[in-house]
Amino acid sequence: MNMGNKTKIPAVYKEDLQIFLQSINELECIKKRDRICMVCLKTISIENIQLIIPRQNQTFDFVCDNIVCVEEYNHKKGV
Ligand SMILES: [Zn+2]
Repeated sequence: MNMGNKTKIPAVYKEDLQIFLQSINELECIKKRDRICMVCLKTISIENIQLIIPRQNQTFDFVCDNIVCVEEYNHKKGV
């Protein structure tokens, strides 16, 4: 069970966020706008990233900072 398996990124920690994204090899993809919100499919950027959800095979899902998306994800998690 991985009920709490997500990482919240407070808006004030943009530099830490970039370092973290670098460490998981996702920073370049996000800068290239290669990642989308798993809920609304909007392009994820450093500015709008809200949740980083680890998946298997060292891949990650992302949720943008739209409150609707965050709530939708919170409803869906565990399914
Ligand atoms: Zn979204």
